[in-house]
Amino acid sequence: MTGYWYRCDKCGITWDEGSKHEAQADRDRHRHEAHGGGAPDGDAVHAPDRTSWPPPSILIAALTLFALFLLFGNRH
Ligand SMILES: [Zn+2]
Repeated sequence: MTGYWYRCDKCGITWDEGSKHEAQADRDRHRHEAHGGGAPDGDAVHAPDRTSWPPPSILIAALTLFALFLLFGNRH
């Protein structure tokens, strides 16, 4: 996840990711069109997931550097 996204649990619809403003606009539009302007149960704008791991290639490179450090660090 890289952007904000809106989900209405009541209708079972998830909108495409976008900026926070776009997600809030999706929410406002849907609430108005499908729920008479009210807030349905379980609808929410979700924030981007920033806890995801970096790409595998970066992890492999880091592990390789760490292994080299261990190998050469012990040669005193
Ligand atoms: Zn809805």
